[in-house]
Amino acid sequence: MKILLLGSGGREHALAWNITEREKGKHELFIAPGNPGTAQCGTNVPISITDFEALGKFCLDNNIEMVIAGPEEPLVKGAWDHFQKDELKHIYFIGPSQFGAQLEGSKSFAKAFMQRHDIPTASYREFTEDQFEEGIAYLKQHPLPIVLKADGLAAGKGVVICESHDDAIAEFENMLMKAKFGEASKKVVVEQFLSGIEMSVFILTNGKEYILLPEAKDYKRVGEKDTGLNTGGMGAVSPVPFANEAFMQKVKTKIIEPTVKGLQKEDINYTGFIFIGLIKVDEEPYVIEYNCRMGDPETEVVMPRLKNNIADLCAAAVEQRLKEVKVETDERCAVTVVAVSGGYPGSFEKGYKIEGLDAVKDSIIFHAGTKANDGQIVTNGGRVLCATSFGNTIQEAVDKSKLTLSGIKFDDMYYRKDIGYEFL
Ligand code: ATP
Repeated sequence: MKILLLGSGGREHALAWNITEREKGKHELFIAPGNPGTAQCGTNVPISITDFEALGKFCLDNNIEMVIAGPEEPLVKGAWDHFQKDELKHIYFIGPSQFGAQLEGSKSFAKAFMQRHDIPTASYREFTEDQFEEGIAYLKQHPLPIVLKADGLAAGKGVVICESHDDAIAEFENMLMKAKFGEASKKVVVEQFLSGIEMSVFILTNGKEYILLPEAKDYKRVGEKDTGLNTGGMGAVSPVPFANEAFMQKVKTKIIEPTVKGLQKEDINYTGFIFIGLIKVDEEPYVIEYNCRMGDPETEVVMPRLKNNIADLCAAAVEQRLKEVKVETDERCAVTVVAVSGGYPGSFEKGYKIEGLDAVKDSIIFHAGTKANDGQIVTNGGRVLCATSFGNTIQEAVDKSKLTLSGIKFDDMYYRKDIGYEFL
C-alpha cells in the first residue's frame, strides 16, 4: 500500500520502522513532515500535520491509500472529518473522528463516557466559571490529596495534584478564573486521588472489534527514581511485569470491552488506536486517561515487540477483519531510554552535532528531536533520540541501551540510567 504517516517524533519513527522492517518493499511510505530517522524508512514530505488541504492534495496527487495519524493534534482538530470529503473518503484513515478524539481532547467528555459505560475510574466532579463558589465549597470538604485537571489539552501540564486545601483552592482559581491553561481550563475536573502503579495499554479498534497490542510502562519524570519535573517521557519498558494474565483479563473485561462497546453504542466513528493510561489499585485496574493515538516513548518498545506489520493491522481494522488477525509478539523484553537535551523539560539549546550514530550495533535508534544539517545530524528538540534494546530480562535490555547511549555524544546530552528500576 502507499501510506502517509503524520508526525515527526520517536513514535512516528518507530511506526515507520515497523512498517518497513516487517516486510521490506511491501508498503511505500511517506512521512509528513518526518525527521532524519523516518527518512531511512520512506520519503519525508514537508507538509504540516494540520494543513489538511495540503495533506489531502498530496494524497490525491500520489495515490495514497492509507493515512496513519501519529499525534493527537490533527485528530483533535478534525483530520478524519476532513478526509470524509467525497474525493478523499476512499483513503483509509487511521485515527478517530474529531468527536471521538474528545476521549483525549476533553477530560470531561472522557469521564462522562466512562461513567455512562461503568468503566472504573476515579470519582469526580466538574466545574465551570459560574460554579466557582460551589467548587470552592466542594474542595474544602474533599479528602487530600486532590487532583485538579484542566478539561482540554494542556501539553501534558494540565494535571495538578494538590497536597493541601489551600493549594487546591489557589490552583482551582488559577485554572478556572485566571485561565492558567487558556481555553483548556475553562472547565476543571476535580478528581479522587488514586494510589497505585501506572501502565499503558494499547488497542487498535474500528469501534466494533479490537486487537490488543503489547502493553508498556513509561517513565515521565526527568530525574532518577521518578523525581523532578514531568517530561514527555524519558523511557519505557515492555512487557510490564505486574500485568499478568489475571490482571490483563480484568483490563479486558472491565475496561477495554466496555470502551469499545461504548463507542459502538454511541455510534462514534473510531478507527484507530486507543491508549489507555491505567493505574493498578489493589489488583484492580482504573482508567487515568484515554489518548486517541499511540504513546511516545511507549511506541518505541511496542513496535519492536510487535511481529506483525502495523500497516497490515490498520488495514484489517478498516476492512472489519480484526477478528481474523493474530497479534504476534516478541517474548523478549524491550526497553527504550530517551536521550534529551540538557535543561529539558526547561529551556535548552538546539543544533548540537550528534556523533556515534553510525557505530550503533545492539540497539535501534529512533530519532525524535533531530535534524539534518549539511549532511550532519544535529539536535533539534528536547527529546532527541531513543535507544531501544531487547533482552531476556529488563536488566539486560536496559544495560544494552545504556551501553549504546554511552557511545553517542552531543553537548549537554542527558538520559536516565534507571529506566525499569522497580523491576530490576
Ligand atoms: P499526558 O501528559 O500523559 O497526556 P495528561 O495531561 O493528559 O497527561 P493525565 O494523564 O490525566 O494528564 O494525568 C497525568 C498524570 O497525573 C498521570 O500519569 C498520573 O500520574 C497523575 N494522575 C492523574 N489522575 C490521577 C488520579 N486520579 N490519581 C492519582 N494520580 C493521577
